[in-house]
Amino acid sequence: AHVLICAGTGCVSSGSKKVETALRDELVKKGLDQEIKVVETGCHGFCEMGPILIVYPEGVFYCRVQPEDVPELVDSHLYKGRIVERLLYREPVSHEKIPNYNDIAFYKKQHRMVLANCGHINPEEIGEYIAAGGYEALAKALTVMKPVEVVAEMKKSGLRGRGGGGFPTGTKWEFTRNAAGDKKYVVCNADEGDPGAFMDRSVLEGDPHRVIEGMAICGYTIGADEGYIYVRAEYPLAIKRLRIAMKQAEEMGLIGDNIFNSGFNFHLKIKEGAGAFVCGEETALLHSIEGKRGMPRPRPPFPAIAGLWGKPTNINNVETFANVPQIITKGADWYASIGTERSKGTKVFALTGKINNTGLAEVPMGITMREIIYEIGGGIPNGKKYKAVQIGGPSGGCLPEQLLDLPVDYDSLIQAGAMMGSGGLVVMDETTCMVDIAKFFLNFTQSESCGKCTPCREGTKRMLEILNRITEGKGQENDIDLLEEMAKNIKATALCGLGQTAPNPVLSTLRYFRAEYEAHIKEKR
Ligand code: SF4
Repeated sequence: AHVLICAGTGCVSSGSKKVETALRDELVKKGLDQEIKVVETGCHGFCEMGPILIVYPEGVFYCRVQPEDVPELVDSHLYKGRIVERLLYREPVSHEKIPNYNDIAFYKKQHRMVLANCGHINPEEIGEYIAAGGYEALAKALTVMKPVEVVAEMKKSGLRGRGGGGFPTGTKWEFTRNAAGDKKYVVCNADEGDPGAFMDRSVLEGDPHRVIEGMAICGYTIGADEGYIYVRAEYPLAIKRLRIAMKQAEEMGLIGDNIFNSGFNFHLKIKEGAGAFVCGEETALLHSIEGKRGMPRPRPPFPAIAGLWGKPTNINNVETFANVPQIITKGADWYASIGTERSKGTKVFALTGKINNTGLAEVPMGITMREIIYEIGGGIPNGKKYKAVQIGGPSGGCLPEQLLDLPVDYDSLIQAGAMMGSGGLVVMDETTCMVDIAKFFLNFTQSESCGKCTPCREGTKRMLEILNRITEGKGQENDIDLLEEMAKNIKATALCGLGQTAPNPVLSTLRYFRAEYEAHIKEKR
């Protein structure tokens, strides 16, 4: 038997380290420490239920385990083979107790490909990643595929950037590959900053080799021998595991010089970000790696032509790179069979706000918002009614109840006035004021504005003043028109993505919840 214990940030903050210590001590006490292996894993995604512990070979899922539960768990389950019912997961509506991981509604509708290893392998042991098929894709790319064939496979897969924009990944790689220059770079954007989003953190904490492998394949394809992972410093566990993974991969010759005797060299470095949201914007991120102030610059030239230190650079985010190894091993056709016509594969979402099952869920593209919120997320707590979901963080928009059956894909979301963004989903119930929500997100982008261009620096401030006026009961008759006009102007004229998308929460709440703005203004009279 062995016991997997979640050591992702979510479970660590709910006390999994103390549970682990208690478990190891108890196993020694009972003389079971040689027979039963305790393995620290990354995140299972079901953070609401932490600390999570799974006992194999049965695969029994225990949740909210506390150190004081450990003696009973060891004595009953590990010693006598009897499941401890009170620690099993209970479905929120039926209250049915479910012992097995795969029978839990939260996991049933998921399609865990990027997160396949998260929660199942020890991220600090390269052998576990290799045993799960890791580095096969790199070996295949380097030994039997030409770089142009990798580009063709990536294009055929239909993978689009998971960081927000949704640009086709294969095409991006092709641009950088075809750009003139001997020196090129691969950069991984792990500066995940949206409020409520923690997809990238979980992947880095739970399966760091998958990202390293994806980056190395990209390096081979575009002709880059050097890569940077730009991680926010607020992710210390992700950074620690990345460093361990890089060291182990280097020791095994999986990154470094002459990988698989192919003549391909690939060296990786970590750059820690200092917490500026704008550094998630690719040109600001590149400036930050170069040691300059993280401010965006106009594009073109795009980083594919002139990126890091002026050299051709391919930038993708964590989830995009994490998709690469499986596309190479299983093939583009397999990958393209999942999802919709123009949005292939899966997407990882962070479920937060007024939802029963807070956590991370990976779903096939094209699934409806209703399935995500009600079947995976377990619905709205305390019998309250659903009101809206903010998708895509501060760059995204609010979707109302009438759009619950909208398929979740890049194009449908844009049409509805929202966007995929990086994958944050903040759910609101009937008690939420939508003007407050718009104000919250605008306040966030306003304080993160780098100040370089006037529409974003000044315009978001003026918009915020109007929103404050409205919520304080001092709204004026033409405030809504003014807000709308300013939002459209900022969208059209701001220099970078931060400013261009900052008005989205205001515009989408105006589109679907205009009556709430009007009610605030009328109330005052
Ligand atoms: Fe800076 Fe905002 Fe202009 Fe972007 S849009 S460059 S964040 S001021």
